[in-house]
Amino acid sequence: MLKLPPLSASIDTLTDEQAGWLDRYRDGRRFTPDRCVTCHVERTADAPAYNRGSFNWWADDEHTEVAEYECPCIDQYVLWRAFSWAGVPLSYQRLSWSDYIGGDENAVEKVLRWVEDYDYNMKTGIGMILHGNSGSGKTFMSTLTIKSMVARGFNCFFVPSHELINVYMNSWRDPVVREWFERRVRETDLLVIDDLGKESNQVAGKDGKAVAMDSFQVPKRALDSILRYRIGEARPTIITTNTVPGSDAFDQKYSPELEVVMSGANSIINMETDLGNFHSEHRFRKERENLSRIIRPILVY
Ligand SMILES: [Zn+2]
Repeated sequence: MLKLPPLSASIDTLTDEQAGWLDRYRDGRRFTPDRCVTCHVERTADAPAYNRGSFNWWADDEHTEVAEYECPCIDQYVLWRAFSWAGVPLSYQRLSWSDYIGGDENAVEKVLRWVEDYDYNMKTGIGMILHGNSGSGKTFMSTLTIKSMVARGFNCFFVPSHELINVYMNSWRDPVVREWFERRVRETDLLVIDDLGKESNQVAGKDGKAVAMDSFQVPKRALDSILRYRIGEARPTIITTNTVPGSDAFDQKYSPELEVVMSGANSIINMETDLGNFHSEHRFRKERENLSRIIRPILVY
């Protein structure tokens, strides 16, 4: 049976307070070491549920041969908790850099260079703006970057822009949410705002009904405040977007001033989506894996 590489010693286990938040807001009890996120077999009518202790996965980087791996159930649990706390969706927790196929090699090289130079970037607050069309792998790259930083012991947070705007709007009514917002969004070592420009122009009102907000003022003010604070504190932010920074659409929505704020502390990485489509290649690979009954483990790199 093959083995996964050992878990990095710099991964922090969650504090009691973090675990409490994860359990309350992110379904942090969904898996346990005894109900393994990777090798658990669900109960059927005639068999009890159990951890199988192994899983089938590719034997080689080229993904030609399937092999049986020993499942490090506790390590998988630790990784799942750490990445979930950082806001990384489970399907992205199971991806590694070698899964970036069919996309822009130039862009991935630049992102990997940022990861290699993390010490300098994290100290000086240099983030990234990943810009490209849907399907170019922006979310893939930003989640993989977060995982690399979590593995090095940094406190990180991945948040879709629509969720961020909603929390920002609600935080002035609810002191508990406000504390969460302040600490996770403003103070986290590395923040990813995913899919900027896709945020809704409506937020939930007191009675739970959606109320239309001034469609330009809300995202603009929220982002302005967050980015100014983080740049002032030299904390890097990664933004993924398909609205071109500097374009009329961007300036109308976020103001040219915000662009100056963003470009001052970020390097802009354009993804060339016409070089290939990450999503369609990826779907093809997933289908092959389902046919071979492959379960991807949670991976750091
Ligand atoms: Zn397991």
